[in-house]
Amino acid sequence: MGKINLQNLSLIVTNDCNLNCAHCMGGCKNSTDMNKDVIDTTLSQISSIHSLSICGGEPTLALESLNSILEFIKNNDIKIDIFNTTINGTIYSNDFLNIFRELNEYVDTCLFYISSDIYHDNEVKRLNLKKKYVENLIKYRKSEFYYGVRKLNKNLKLFNEGNAKNLDSSLTVDIKPIKVYLTYIDSKNKFDKNGQCYIGPMITINPEGIITEYEASTEHQNTIYNYGSVLEESIEENSLKRGRVLIPRKFDKATEKEMNRYNRIKTLIK
Ligand code: SF4
Repeated sequence: MGKINLQNLSLIVTNDCNLNCAHCMGGCKNSTDMNKDVIDTTLSQISSIHSLSICGGEPTLALESLNSILEFIKNNDIKIDIFNTTINGTIYSNDFLNIFRELNEYVDTCLFYISSDIYHDNEVKRLNLKKKYVENLIKYRKSEFYYGVRKLNKNLKLFNEGNAKNLDSSLTVDIKPIKVYLTYIDSKNKFDKNGQCYIGPMITINPEGIITEYEASTEHQNTIYNYGSVLEESIEENSLKRGRVLIPRKFDKATEKEMNRYNRIKTLIK
């Protein structure tokens, strides 16, 4: 199988975090970081990614993983349109910003958000970190890569995973596996008879290399959403094996509708 083009790829670089927000769907706090082997094996299957999202845990605690991603991008022919992440703002890291500076030479757009919502705010206050958070926010805002605070959409429900299981049930909704679409399109989202491979809506790789979905807690990633490991088979082979793959004759309305539906629900939780 050849290299693939992805619309969205999410790498969960760590499960570690210095906070423990009431809505966090992580569900498993430990210090597992994504290692170089998982990063190289994943990225070497890919020729282009429209949006590469770095998830956690707290990404500023996984600098070695971020450096490994940077090194791969620097030394290999991989096109990335947008490199993005969200941090919790309680840790100021020059090393994190330096990685962004270097990445910016190889990626079209680099950006990061800082979380700001009722759950993060409560946790920051509980840990007496509000002053530090505000100081960090002021410093981070000077960075050319700072894109703004990231809020929760009040009209969308949280996923009933991890810590969020303890919230009022009216605030949460159960997650379900998402269909995977395998189509053959070019980099402009047009059907490509020559057979470029595209997998969407969102493929997520967790720190251990498990292929899963973004809306799945760490607990689920190790159970029902464990679709296999990048260390054992390619993302493309794995998607084909799952049997929930649609190969349309063209990039048609049904695929577009499904992608739009997905884009509406994907924005809740980092
Ligand atoms: S929501 Fe983010 S900041 Fe809060 S505990 Fe989870 S990973 Fe940490």
